[in-house]
Amino acid sequence: MTTPQIRPPEELRPLLDRAPRSIIIGGRAAGAAEGGEIETLDPATGEVLTRIAAGTAADVDRAVAAASAAFPSWRELSPDARGRLLSDLSVLIEENAGELAMLETLDNGKPMTESLYLDVGLAAQSWRYYAGWPTKLSGQTPPISPMVGQSFVYTRREPLGVVGAIVPWNFPLLMATWKLAPALAAGNTVVLKPSEMTSLSALRLVELAAEAGFPPGVINLVTGYGHQAGQALIEHPGVAKISFTGSTATGRRIVTASAGSLKKLTLELGGKSANIVFPDADLALAAQGALTGIFLNQGQVCCAGSRLMVHRDAHDDLVGELEKAAREIRLGHGLADDTEMGPLVSATQLERVMRYVESGRDQGATLVCGGERPDGPLSDGYYLRPTIFTDVRDDMAIASEEIFGPVLSVLTFDDEEEAVRRANSTEYGLAAGVWTSDIKRAHRVAHGLQAGTVWVNTYNMLDPAAPFGGYKASGYGRDLGEESLLGFTQTKSVWVGLD
Ligand code: NAD
Repeated sequence: MTTPQIRPPEELRPLLDRAPRSIIIGGRAAGAAEGGEIETLDPATGEVLTRIAAGTAADVDRAVAAASAAFPSWRELSPDARGRLLSDLSVLIEENAGELAMLETLDNGKPMTESLYLDVGLAAQSWRYYAGWPTKLSGQTPPISPMVGQSFVYTRREPLGVVGAIVPWNFPLLMATWKLAPALAAGNTVVLKPSEMTSLSALRLVELAAEAGFPPGVINLVTGYGHQAGQALIEHPGVAKISFTGSTATGRRIVTASAGSLKKLTLELGGKSANIVFPDADLALAAQGALTGIFLNQGQVCCAGSRLMVHRDAHDDLVGELEKAAREIRLGHGLADDTEMGPLVSATQLERVMRYVESGRDQGATLVCGGERPDGPLSDGYYLRPTIFTDVRDDMAIASEEIFGPVLSVLTFDDEEEAVRRANSTEYGLAAGVWTSDIKRAHRVAHGLQAGTVWVNTYNMLDPAAPFGGYKASGYGRDLGEESLLGFTQTKSVWVGLD
């Protein structure tokens, strides 16, 4: 097992030293107006990495003012120039990929390979994707039939103004990117509020954006707690839209708190995604997909395939493969070369997940493997061994609630209709997986599932061009694709009388 005696690399020291001045408004970095700070921990060791500024309403107020001041010239910048800046930022992200990935791993705990290829790689790709959009965002000339005389109508896609972006701790750089890139491409300016647990990559991102040439005030960063900085952003009258990714509970609070100012909202919330395996599937491939589906990022993935629904005939073979593979996963510090799974993000998150493990046991599920913390050299970190439960019933908490940890609940089913009905019998609807070699069944099931994304014979695939978001309590609006871009615009119809 890997030893946790890993310290932040020296090259990151300057950035960690800058972190207490993590509020960037109008291009200037500062501490919080009220002087508050928040400790940022390495979840693999529990040691303090650095401190970030705990912004409050006063900081948010200044950030919104800076974003408002920057808006008129940003929206008027030529589409080509705007696109160029996004593209230049994607290049800088790639040039600084190693440093960004190390920051993400230290802050969040995930293995370096995940940080490098998934978080940073997909972030760079997403900036590049949206860099192509300002020059293509266009209105329409609808074929009207005027009641009187002759007229001509064209529509314009106009930006909203100042956008507040609030993001969680599981993919800090990537989630910030998924808000900022389309919002900026559409001509809005932004105030970003990252999670108080993982703000370091956002800080570096905003620095890189300045290096790329984004004008001061176009991207502002206020670090701090959700109930302070986050709440202030939601309530601020100068913010036109909140694009939020986080838990369903916080999403509900945002809907209520933003009602007074009638803000537009995009909400990317929680999930309890079903991953359905039919007996005609390639079981080796399905096992791989089930493992990635639940253990990627220690299971702290909104679209994690946390409900593995297996046809009764395939159950024993599949569970046998999963158990063997899960027992072999190497836990360790994310910066160690041989680490396959890191710690959970915090002590609080570990306790929360351990409570679900207890509830699974108490409610009669069978613990196949995991369910315990490693001892020895890893015992200071927030680790949990990969955990699999079988004999899970739909009414158990581990089958219906989002655990957000490396805990797989395996359920059995007997036929297709039952599988789809039970997969849909949850308040969530973020994603789902289907494993089968029957092409007709694949499409039938994909159409029947109430989920914003359905993966067939694959899992956890993402691309900036493919919209991502939820049905039901998993949210509304979409990240990614053209749909996200349009969500940061409003349509104006311009009538021109021709008589
Ligand atoms: P969270 O809701 O606790 O926090 C998310 C963000 O909201 C943080 O920046 C936090 O500071 C802020 N916040 C908290 N309370 C707030 C308030 N009252 N007002 C304004 N802001 C507030 O979520 P988390 O624990 O950071 O992240 C895990 C959750 O995120 C899971 O439920 C997961 O499913 C969800 N998630 C969803 C997606 C998606 O695309 N649907 C992606 C990633 C994560």
